[in-house]
Amino acid sequence: MADNLPAERPEGANLPSTERRSAPEPTPKGGPLGEATYKPVAGFAVTFETMFRKVYTEEYPEVKRPTAERYHGRHQLNRHPDGLEKCVGCELCAWACPADAILVEGASNDDTPISEGGTGRFSPGERYGRVYQINYLRCIFCGLCIEACPTRALTMTNFYELADNNRADLIFTKDQLLAPLSEGMVAAPHPMVEGMEERDYYLGKVDKATDAQREYVAAEAAAQEAADGGSQAAEMEAEGGMPR
Ligand code: SF4
Ligand code: SF4
Repeated sequence: MADNLPAERPEGANLPSTERRSAPEPTPKGGPLGEATYKPVAGFAVTFETMFRKVYTEEYPEVKRPTAERYHGRHQLNRHPDGLEKCVGCELCAWACPADAILVEGASNDDTPISEGGTGRFSPGERYGRVYQINYLRCIFCGLCIEACPTRALTMTNFYELADNNRADLIFTKDQLLAPLSEGMVAAPHPMVEGMEERDYYLGKVDKATDAQREYVAAEAAAQEAADGGSQAAEMEAEGGMPR
């Protein structure tokens, strides 16, 4: 055992590391007079160096510099080519997040239309992300959540303007994070493409929304409008009947 002990330290080796590392100051040439002139001028070295550099003024926010291609900015919840959401509400992103910045609540898809009392279908699988929030007061843009996502539903954009003057506005909700509808997509809820299974979506067999899906969405929107119109008329009738 005694053989394994380190040899006795030489004198001064147990000084604090800062003291050990500090190198002796270089002695300026020219004796005390040289030292008196050198030291004040040396202190301005960085100042002078900076004065003669080319000035680079960024006209932000009028002119925005493009970020690096893989810059980690605001997140985005992606869609399949027919508009159904890729998020399956599995919560893996929330578990992977070291800053506890993500809140997910999954729910089951329902093929009964909303107009018939159902909740509708939002993703091709069994489940979808009913609630999805990212708290940008906590997020450190590490990207671990996007690595954890099994469906590539969650990715990061290059958008970086995420400052605000209140906390509430920095908690982004699902409607803010969802990718906009691209050409060929229709907004969920709507059924899957006829004859396709969940795995077909991941095999790239779906490339756009079908006519049947569009008709379904249009019919649901018309039913919703009629229901809203009916409830508004009922409200107006009730207000008209109230004593003034
Ligand atoms: S980027 Fe990192 S900190 Fe931000 S939500 Fe994802 S895992 Fe959490
Ligand atoms: S974003 Fe991805 S990891 Fe997070 S709940 Fe949705 S599917 Fe799961």
